[in-house]
Amino acid sequence: MVEIRSVRKSFGSHEVLRGIDLEVRAGEVTVVLGPSGSGKSTLLRTVNHLEKVDSGRITVDGKLVGYRRSGDKLYELREREVLRQRTQIGFVFQNFHLFPHLTVLENITEAPVSALKRPRAGAVAAAHTLLERVGLAEKAGAYPGHLSGGQQQRVAIARALALEPKLLLFDEPTSALDPELVGEVLDVIKDLARQGTTMIVVTHEIGFAREVADTVVFMDEGVVVEQGPPAEVLDRPCQERTRAFLSKVL
Ligand code: ADP
Ligand code: MG
Repeated sequence: MVEIRSVRKSFGSHEVLRGIDLEVRAGEVTVVLGPSGSGKSTLLRTVNHLEKVDSGRITVDGKLVGYRRSGDKLYELREREVLRQRTQIGFVFQNFHLFPHLTVLENITEAPVSALKRPRAGAVAAAHTLLERVGLAEKAGAYPGHLSGGQQQRVAIARALALEPKLLLFDEPTSALDPELVGEVLDVIKDLARQGTTMIVVTHEIGFAREVADTVVFMDEGVVVEQGPPAEVLDRPCQERTRAFLSKVL
């Protein structure tokens, strides 16, 4: 579903991604771990072209992200085409990013109705189904400001699902939550995993990684230091840097 090949990205003179290779198979969950500043968010952002790579390439479901190939030349996609690509990839942020002036229901129907031009009635029905799935059926009319962080993040997940994405990206989805609210959000993500949703999840929740990940990727200083099944990377890491990191977060 996702192929990342030799991806490099700098901000000014700081090379944040230094040749990343990564594959995510359809229906699998990849958990990305790594210290702050190692390039995890930047990597996720390149996958849906929120950041442009300097070199290397990324394909999602066989399509180059942000570019079109013609012969042996690459052409950058136009803004509108990038936006269309982006609707096939759901992104859930640490700080929810809900529209504060819209109700929960409106947050979920906004993109399907405005961006995808779906009929409103169908989008509303789908939103109610999604709210049930994330355990918030009774909150359709509420405003985000009246919800707990855990509830807001579950709305954000429902909103991402409303576009029926091929791929879901999570950037530290529980890092902004009080500890007692982390579980309800992880439960929703686990449920998605059981249903075969393809996901890349950046998180420090090692228990979640152990339970849900097909592959755990450890990043440090812009490179993939180590990757493999959770039982290997988490319990028998080969690299000293991985061991040092795990000893701090476990
Ligand atoms: P992580 O998510 O692993 O904490 P990030 O991908 O957010 O790491 O950041 C990696 C490095 O890139 C950090 O040093 C950060 O300061 C830098 N960085 C991220 N985004 C930008 C940006 N838009 N401009 C300049 N530097 C950035
Ligand atoms: Mg980050």
